[in-house]
Amino acid sequence: MAYSNTQLFINGKWRPSQSGRTIAVRNPATEEEIGTVAHADRADLDEVLEAAAKGFKVWRAVAPFERCRIMRKAAAIMRERNDEIAPLMTMEQGKTLAEAKMEAMAAADVIEWFAEEAKRAYGRVIPARGPGIYQIAIKEPVGPVAAFTPWNFPINQVVRKLSAGLAAGCSIIVKAPEETPASPAQLIKAFVDAGVPDGVINLVYGVPSEISEYLIPHPVIRKISFTGSTNVGKQLSALAGLHMKRATMELGGHAPAIVFKDADVSAAAKILSAAKYRNAGQVCISPTRMLVQDDVFKEFVEKFVEGAKSMKVGNGLDPDSKMGSLANPRRVTAIEGMVQDAVSKGAKLETGGHRVGNKGYFYEPTVVSDVPKDARAMNEEPFGPLALISRFSTFDEVAEEANRLPFGLASYAFTSSTKTATAIGAAIEAGMVSINSFGLALPEVPFGGVKDSGYGSEGGTEAMEAYFNTKFITQTGV
Ligand code: NAD
Repeated sequence: MAYSNTQLFINGKWRPSQSGRTIAVRNPATEEEIGTVAHADRADLDEVLEAAAKGFKVWRAVAPFERCRIMRKAAAIMRERNDEIAPLMTMEQGKTLAEAKMEAMAAADVIEWFAEEAKRAYGRVIPARGPGIYQIAIKEPVGPVAAFTPWNFPINQVVRKLSAGLAAGCSIIVKAPEETPASPAQLIKAFVDAGVPDGVINLVYGVPSEISEYLIPHPVIRKISFTGSTNVGKQLSALAGLHMKRATMELGGHAPAIVFKDADVSAAAKILSAAKYRNAGQVCISPTRMLVQDDVFKEFVEKFVEGAKSMKVGNGLDPDSKMGSLANPRRVTAIEGMVQDAVSKGAKLETGGHRVGNKGYFYEPTVVSDVPKDARAMNEEPFGPLALISRFSTFDEVAEEANRLPFGLASYAFTSSTKTATAIGAAIEAGMVSINSFGLALPEVPFGGVKDSGYGSEGGTEAMEAYFNTKFITQTGV
């Protein structure tokens, strides 16, 4: 499929913005303009709000079995169209074609899992204190949702919000990323082609702050879901709080990955280096601070560096590429700055540390070791192909370092001791702990953070809860 311009999708119609304004889309691997995306203004937003309000009335009345049937059809369409959708994602985001294919395929699994959950939105009957009284708690869809999603996983970040919301009976306005608009539009198209009624799903692009500042306070919107940086998430959750709107916030991370001396060091290095450079490190659950026990530090660094060096960097469309370009020039500038800062403060550059070529936003898979705690990268989310490896001696010391930062999203630990595994799982302040594997982000398991990484879940039954109100009904004497 050739890369094409992306339009807004409002009330069942693909169309330009009323003003006709557009935003340029660039291929991060070539820096060339490859298309445009429609830029919604206030008049478009008023229309989309009206559509979502109407869509909610229609969709909440559709029986869960029917919602499930339509959603499963959307999943099947995503699988059928995988070969057409994945190259669009690579062209606009930079990740490899293999990664793009996997993301679009995984989206089908997410849709299917939530589709099945639509049928299981159980309430409960609460035993009453006297005869002839029924006390019932039921789940009702919360209402029209405004969902804001970022550019790192253009489909995956939308599909979790969309699938849980639709399964619960909500309508939704998706504000998808302007830098990567075409692949999420294909996801929406799959739902539309599967038979989702007009107004139930709507898609807009524009200036993110203008859209969020208008949609969040608007009385039609009852629920906000945002994935992105902690700074923006705090602003949006403050606005949501001011207007008493439910919110799910999936924000930044700075995952510790702890390798104890009794771990299978080769396996840990292999798993962690593959996870680190996936999507060029632009992943909120990316392992970032590798904390390695003294005795195995040298061996781990050698093996991790081997993994980093094996990542062939190149245009994501080239089947030989193992890591594509970064998604935008902001990430290259940020990583360059963090590497220079870490080295100037005494860290050792083990491999990488440079841009690749002079066209496109490519950066080498980079490893720095013995990084001082006051280095910027040890405190800010790198969100790029930069691994930091530090050493520790004792359990207490590593637990303290793991919990030092305000983030608490993903965390990893490697050990062959059940006792250590249990102790570290309990000690880490994070929403997710993966021990001896990279086992996060499946649709059926909780996905979310604590502390500055946000609140709420985007996976498992917890994700459905976010789209429900609980209504209590007590009924006597009938
Ligand atoms: P950013 O912080 O401005 O934007 C992050 C995302 O939020 C983008 O998708 C953007 O469109 C959106 N956004 C920004 N301001 C908004 C607003 N007022 N209302 C609604 N949406 C808004 O900057 P960026 O350069 O795109 O990303 C920088 C950092 O964001 C990264 O370093 C990373 O820490 C974080 N990030 C996290 C995730 C994640 O999966 N949690 C994804 C993308 C970016």
